[in-house]
Amino acid sequence: MYPSRFRYEAPRSLAEAIGMLHDGGEDAKVLAGGQSLVPLMKLRFASPELIVDINNVPGLDYHRADPDGTLRIGALCRHADLERSDLLKATQPTMASAAPVIADPVVRNRGTLVGSLCHADPQGDWASVVLALGGSVIARGPGGIRSIPLAEFVTGPFQNVLDPDEIAVEAVIPPAKGTRSGGYLKLERRVGDLVALEMSGETVNRAGISLTGVGGSTIGASAAAEALTGRPLSADAIGRAAELAAEAARPRTDHRGSAEYKRHMVHTFVVRLLSRTDAPAERAA
Ligand SMILES: Cc1cc2nc3c(=O)[nH]c(=O)nc-3n(C[C@H](O)[C@H](O)[C@H](O)COP(=O)(O)OP(=O)(O)OC[C@H]3O[C@@H](n4cnc5c(N)ncnc54)[C@H](O)[C@@H]3O)c2cc1C
Repeated sequence: MYPSRFRYEAPRSLAEAIGMLHDGGEDAKVLAGGQSLVPLMKLRFASPELIVDINNVPGLDYHRADPDGTLRIGALCRHADLERSDLLKATQPTMASAAPVIADPVVRNRGTLVGSLCHADPQGDWASVVLALGGSVIARGPGGIRSIPLAEFVTGPFQNVLDPDEIAVEAVIPPAKGTRSGGYLKLERRVGDLVALEMSGETVNRAGISLTGVGGSTIGASAAAEALTGRPLSADAIGRAAELAAEAARPRTDHRGSAEYKRHMVHTFVVRLLSRTDAPAERAA
């Protein structure tokens, strides 16, 4: 199928892009990697009248760390940039383990982390990772800049809090509170359940557990994370966190498996990830 007719603009600055979005209102859409938007347009699930392609806007393709360890990922940083990143391998084990399991090489070459957050697909990997790491999105619009915690950014399946004339310019991951460790496990094909986790320190200073593909949107398993915080990673604590994460999941029985099976996989993945985080290979300063 072909998309409906639309007007295409390729502005060369953020201010110009925001102005175009403002004029276009609800009928305008940002195009970043196009890996989600273009298929939706071809199927006519989305029929924007105006496409504002931000790929010619300079200075958005970065990912870098501030001196305090805050990680910033620009709106045109591709999945492949993150997959190849030495910075992530050295400082962000959860992100480094998630990047290679996103889609396939073709999609990773064009798709962006920020676009994935904006798309808010309940099956999207990055929303889980960024939620578990306590990250946020920086949005810019005619009224200025605002920072939105990811937990508030995604409001439901394929929905976010951006105004039609706002652009998500950056995703931000706060610095670790100690030694950062963690991982990302994805059960592909059969179920599509995903678990992301980030912890800091020998005694756990901060934990984050997020679940993807086992509910209507990304689920932050906050009770499970709290059960780990302020104590060493004992077998009891791991078991309790896994139980609470499984309880937080809201899976449905479908052709990929029963709700019971999916819940069981969440439990298994949380135990597996937490049991691995003590291994030296999983640690990053
Ligand atoms: C075959 C295939 C397999 C895939 N598999 C996976 C997978 O395993 N895991 C996974 O997580 N994802 C997967 N994806 C999705 C992929 O990761 C997309 O790249 C991602 O969801 C969207 O990023 P994008 O840059 O392509 O956004 P686009 O397609 O350009 O945009 C998506 C939506 O976000 C909006 N948007 C994008 N950027 C901004 C911005 N800066 N500000 C405001 N709004 C913005 C757009 O208007 C649009 O509504 C897959 C896609 C395909 C085609």
